[in-house]
Amino acid sequence: MTSTSLWRNTTPAADAFCTRHVGPAERDVAAMLGVIGADSLDDLMDQTVPASIRLRGDMGLGDGLSEPAVLARLREIAGRNRVMVSLIGQGYYGTVLPGVIQRNVLENPAWYTAYTPYQPEISQGRLEALLNFQTLVTDLTGLDVANASLLDEATAAAEAMALARRVARSKADGFFVDADCHPQTLAVLRTRAEPMGWRIIVGNPEHDLDPDAVFGALFQYPGSSGRIRDPRAWIERLHAAHAIVAMAADPLALTVLEAPGTLGADIAVGSMQRYGMPMGAGGPHAAYMAVRDAYKRNMPGRLVGVSIDSRGEPAYRLALQTREQHIRREKATSNICTAQVLPAVISAMYAVYHGPEGLAAIARRTHRLTAILVAGLRALSIRVETESVFDTITVHTRGEADLLQVRAEEAGMNLRVVDGDRVGISLDETSTPHTVRAIWRCFCRDAGRLAALERDLTAPDDLLPAALRRTTLFLTHPVFHAHRSETDMLRYLRRLSDRDLALDRTMIPLGSCTMKLNATVEMMPVTWPEFCDIHPFAPAAQQAGYAELFQDLERLLKAVSGYDAVSLQPNSGAQGEYAGLLAIRAYHRSRGEGRRDICLIPASAHGTNPASAQMVGMRVVVVACDGQGNVDIGDLKAKIAQHADRLAAIMITYPSTHGVFEESVVEICDLVHAAGGQVYLDGANMNAQVGLSRPGAFGADVSHFNLHKTFCIPHGGGGPGMGPIGVGAHLAPFLPGAPQEGGTNAVSAAPFGSAAVLPISWTYMTLMGDAGLRRATEIAILNSNYIASRLSDHYPVLYRGANGRVAHECIVDLRPIKDQTGITVDDIAKRLIDHGFHAPTVSFPVAGTFMIEPTESEGRVELDRFCDAMIAIRAEIRDIEAGVLTADESPLRHAPHTVRDLTETAWERAYDRQRGCLPGDVVPSSKYWSPVNRLDNAYGDRNLVCSCPDMSAYQEEATA
Ligand SMILES: *Cc1c(COP(=O)(O)O)cnc(C)c1O
Repeated sequence: MTSTSLWRNTTPAADAFCTRHVGPAERDVAAMLGVIGADSLDDLMDQTVPASIRLRGDMGLGDGLSEPAVLARLREIAGRNRVMVSLIGQGYYGTVLPGVIQRNVLENPAWYTAYTPYQPEISQGRLEALLNFQTLVTDLTGLDVANASLLDEATAAAEAMALARRVARSKADGFFVDADCHPQTLAVLRTRAEPMGWRIIVGNPEHDLDPDAVFGALFQYPGSSGRIRDPRAWIERLHAAHAIVAMAADPLALTVLEAPGTLGADIAVGSMQRYGMPMGAGGPHAAYMAVRDAYKRNMPGRLVGVSIDSRGEPAYRLALQTREQHIRREKATSNICTAQVLPAVISAMYAVYHGPEGLAAIARRTHRLTAILVAGLRALSIRVETESVFDTITVHTRGEADLLQVRAEEAGMNLRVVDGDRVGISLDETSTPHTVRAIWRCFCRDAGRLAALERDLTAPDDLLPAALRRTTLFLTHPVFHAHRSETDMLRYLRRLSDRDLALDRTMIPLGSCTMKLNATVEMMPVTWPEFCDIHPFAPAAQQAGYAELFQDLERLLKAVSGYDAVSLQPNSGAQGEYAGLLAIRAYHRSRGEGRRDICLIPASAHGTNPASAQMVGMRVVVVACDGQGNVDIGDLKAKIAQHADRLAAIMITYPSTHGVFEESVVEICDLVHAAGGQVYLDGANMNAQVGLSRPGAFGADVSHFNLHKTFCIPHGGGGPGMGPIGVGAHLAPFLPGAPQEGGTNAVSAAPFGSAAVLPISWTYMTLMGDAGLRRATEIAILNSNYIASRLSDHYPVLYRGANGRVAHECIVDLRPIKDQTGITVDDIAKRLIDHGFHAPTVSFPVAGTFMIEPTESEGRVELDRFCDAMIAIRAEIRDIEAGVLTADESPLRHAPHTVRDLTETAWERAYDRQRGCLPGDVVPSSKYWSPVNRLDNAYGDRNLVCSCPDMSAYQEEATA
C-alpha cells in the first residue's frame, strides 16, 4: 500500500474552519435552496452574478489552514518582531493596559463586536463609556465640547485645520504649523491642504508667525522635541487677526500642564494612545478633538449627548447627526464614518480606573524620572537642548547620534534619531530608575563615573515651566472616583456591556456593514506583545514580522480583488476613499490633465463618497438611478458628455447599495474610461464578490476594502477599522507615502495605519483559503435571498437583479406601511429590540426602508428567528390596518418595552402587557431588556449636553 492510504483521515480537513465561520450546515443549505427555488449554490450564483464579471477558476490562495496551524504560523511571524523599550516618543509611548480592561473590554466580544450606536436604546453601555471619554477630553483640554474620537492625531490635526477654515473670520489662505509638530502630523496636514489651496507655513512661532497671513495655526504642546513653550502671546496675536488656534496636546502632560482652553486655544487635538492602548506599530488609537462651544456644530466626527427617553429618564444618544456625511454628503463637516470607539472606551476606562490623582501620579513619576535623567546627563557634561520639558528631551551628541542609537539598541532600547547630532528621548509610564540608568550608560561607558554620578546627584527640581503648571481642575465627576478597586471596575464594565446588544447575543443584520463572525482565534494575536509593543517608527529590522505579515496581506488582497498594488495605510473605508481619490487626482496631474475635477456619484451612494470627493477638491455631480435602482445609463452618458474633459472619476458601489449586481457595470467602466475618467469602486460590498468577481479585473481602477466589514476586524462599537486600497498599476506611484518621512499623499499618522488589527484579516483569509472564501460569499448571497424569499409575502423587496435575485443584502420597503398606518421604520426598528434583535440599516440608501444583510455567519435558526420576528411585527401592523387599534395605541409605537413597562402598577395600554413585553417566541429567561424606553432625539439636540451630567440635576430639568 502507498503512504497515501496510510495517512488517510489523519489531518484536519482544509475546510475545517470554514464550517465554523459559515452559519448554515450542509443540510440547511439544501433546505434553504429549496425555499428560494434554486437547484444548487452554483445555480444561484449563475442567476445572481452577471456572467460578464464572473471569475472563472480560483484566486490562487490555496487551501485554508486549521486554527492551530494558523496560530503556529502567526507565532513564527510575531517572533520576527523584536520588542524593545521605546524611548522614541513622537506621539507613541509605552503604557500599561490594566488587565481588567484588557480582558474585559479589548478581549471581550460584548464590547468589540458591537456596532456604531445608531440605535441608542440598545447601546447605552458604550454610549456611557464614550460620554466618559468626552468628559475626560473636555476636562483635560479645558474646552467645552469633545467628540467621541477621530482616527489618529495627524488626521485630527488636519480636521482641526479644516474646522479652522470653516469658522475663521480671517480670509487669509495660510495655515501656520509649528515646526516642533510631529513630522507625521505635518505630512498629513500637507496632504489635506494641497487640494484645498491652503498654504502650509512651517516655522518657529517665536520668529516666523505672521497672524495676518493665516486663517489658523497649530502648536504642539509639549513640542515634538520635548520643549514646552507658552503659547499665550501667539494666541492673542492670532485672535486679533481673526485666526483660529489649535493645539496638539499630550493628554498625560495635560494632567500637570495648564489646559489649552485655559491658555486661549480654540481647538485641541491629540492622541489618547498612552491612556492604556498599546503602541501597536501605529494603532488603533483614539484621537481626540475638543472645541469651544461656538464651534460644536462644525466639529467632525460623532458626538455623544444626553437626552431623555419616553418616560423622561436620562438616556444617551448620538447628537447633532445632521452635521454628518450620512446626511450632508459633500457639505458634511468631514468624511469620518468609522472612528476609534473601542480605543476611546479603553482610554476612558483607563481614566476611570486611575482617576485624576492616579493619572497625575503617573505623569509626575514620569516627569521626575525625566528630571533625574536630565540632571544626570548634564552632570556627565552632555548637552540637553530642551530646558522646560515634561517627558521628552532632545540631546545634542556632537555627531554621535548613530553611535548612540547602536548603544541603545544593544541595551534593548530605541532612541529617536533626529539628525546626525541630535537624539530624542521620551520616558513614559513604563519607565523606571533602571531605564534612566541604562540611558546614562549609553552616554558614558565609564562605570566608575556612573557610580559616582548616582552617589552625588541630588534630587533635581521639576522642569515644568512655573507659568504653565496646571491649576484647572479635571475629572471631578463621580464616575472618575467610584471604580478604584478591580472588583468595582470589573462590575462597572460588566454593567455597561450588559446594557448593549452586540454580536455575542444576536445577529446584527445591518446592510452595508457586514456584521459577520469575528472569530476568537482571529482576535488572539491582537494582544500579543510582539504585535502590540512595537513603536511604528522603530527600525525596520525590528519589524521583520510585521513586514512579512503586511506583504502577505497585500498578496491576499491583490488576489481577492484583482488589483496590482495595495496600500495598507488608510485607517477606515472613508480614508481609503480619500487616499484613492488623491491617487486619481495625482495621476491626472502627472499627465497634464489637472483640470479634471468632476466626480460623478450615483444618487444612491454612501455619504462618505461625496464627502471624500469634496476633500480632494473635486466637484460632485450626481448621476440618477433608474426604477430598478441601477445607475441610469442615459443620465450617465449625458453627464459624461456635459463634463467631458473635466471628468476626473466616477465613484460606484458594487454590488450597488441597492443590493443588486448591476449587469451594466462593465459598460459603466468603459464609458468613464473612454472619456478619460477613472473608476473608483467602493469596496464596502466586497462580501458579495470575494471569490466570484474581482473589481480590478472587470474594469475598476481603485477600491478600498473595509477590513472591518468583509475581512473580520470587529466593529468595536464604531471602530477601529482599516480601509486599505487596491489600485491598478498606473495608480501605484500615487499611493500614500511614509508619513514620518514626509511622504506625499500620506493620509494617516502611521505608515500602516492601525497595524495591530491587520493580523485579524490575515488570519481570516489564511484560515479560509480560496474555497472557504468563495463559500462564504455564496452563503452570504444564499442567506440574503433566503430572507428575501421568506419576507416577500409580508414586505415588498424593493430591488432585484435581472433574474429576480438579490445580492448579499436586500431592501424591504416599509413606505407603504407608513402611508397606510402611520407606522414608521423607527417603530419597526424599535419593536425588533423587543424580539431581541438589532435593527437592520434604517433609511439607507432609500428613506423609509430597511436594508438587511445577514452575512454568511448566521445559521438558518437565527435567520428564521429574525424572519419570524419581522412577520410577527407585520401581523401587529395588520391590526392597525384592520382598525383594531391605532398606531399610537400599538405596541410598535411604545417599543422598546422595558422592565418599567412590565412592572408598573397600572397598565392602560390597548394591547396585552404580556404580548407587548414578550412578543413572539421570546423566552423570558433569555430575554434582552432594553435599559431605556424610546429616546427623544429632538430633545437632546435642543438641550445639548455632551459630557457626564449630574444626573439628578438633569432629571429635574427634564421634568420641570
Ligand atoms: C461603511 C461604508 C463606507 C465607509 O466606510 P468606513 O470604514 O465606515 O469609513 C463607505 N461606503 C459604503 C458603501 C459603506 O458601507
